[in-house]
Amino acid sequence: MLLTCDDAWFGGWRGPSILRIEAGRLSYGGPADGTETDGQLAATVFAPFTDSHVHLGLVDPGALVVGGIGRVVDLGWDPALSTSWPTRGTAADSGWPEVSTSGGLLCAPRGYPSRSGWAPAAAALEIADRDAARTTLEGLQDHGATVAKITLNSDAGPVWDDDLLVAVVDEAHRLGLPVVAHAQGLGQTRRAARAGVDALAHTPFSERLDDDLVQDIARRMTWISTLDIHGYGSGGVAFDTAVDNLTRFHAAGGSVLYGTDLGNGPLPVGLNGRELAALSRAGLDLDAILRSLTPGSAEASFDTRLVTVLPGPRPTTVAELAQAAVATLPELLAGAE
Ligand SMILES: [Zn+2]
Repeated sequence: MLLTCDDAWFGGWRGPSILRIEAGRLSYGGPADGTETDGQLAATVFAPFTDSHVHLGLVDPGALVVGGIGRVVDLGWDPALSTSWPTRGTAADSGWPEVSTSGGLLCAPRGYPSRSGWAPAAAALEIADRDAARTTLEGLQDHGATVAKITLNSDAGPVWDDDLLVAVVDEAHRLGLPVVAHAQGLGQTRRAARAGVDALAHTPFSERLDDDLVQDIARRMTWISTLDIHGYGSGGVAFDTAVDNLTRFHAAGGSVLYGTDLGNGPLPVGLNGRELAALSRAGLDLDAILRSLTPGSAEASFDTRLVTVLPGPRPTTVAELAQAAVATLPELLAGAE
């Protein structure tokens, strides 16, 4: 089945477009070229807005979808629970966002978050050597994890030495799992970068990174924003430090993903307007923010059972994104003429 829409965002602006729906999944079908389709949408259709850092064990997944988020990456919970959550193949009417998960969080023995209040004890997977890292990561992957979450938080407990850190990252990469690190404490961002970590779960906020380091890691790392965890508009040092680091990282060409660490602290469940405003503060324009919200959507193989929709022509301001809503494919079809 084919639909036409006024405008579309899949990895970039596409203009008037054809959307293809097959077996419960939607994919980008190319520019509208006069081909007869099954319906016309007077709307702009986006790849589903994605929060790349959530903890679904702490929030209502259905409320996230109602709030405008269609896809999430869960970065740590009790893997016995999180690996049983519905993944991308789930039914259209499940009410869930599309979920990718890390399962648990790999950490040094007694390391963060093994003694923190927010995570269940089973979420912290304490790793003392390379063999334990391999076995643990294989087990997580067998149960559906598609990303490895590690912690390097010297503010809240022990961290691995460089040798074991590199070994853990290598074992994840050997399995094809990208590595996302919670890096906190002086020097931990540099250590993560040297070890080959692919992404940071938070924009670094413990210290102002020097320009050389920012330039270096902008070429090979992705940062997940999470600026509002520090309280947008609070005037706090951590917020200002994070915005300063992100401003320079983005200017140097670094890849930024929208993420909120949803579940930790009093954040709105859904698309967070304060996070978007903070991204603007760091110099991301509307297109850069849309890229941060739609990872993977430039790939030809990208498909989804949820999309984000804005009525009317393409937005020209970040504030307009607050009106975006998630639609299932049956809802999308019902809105076509
Ligand atoms: Zn988190």
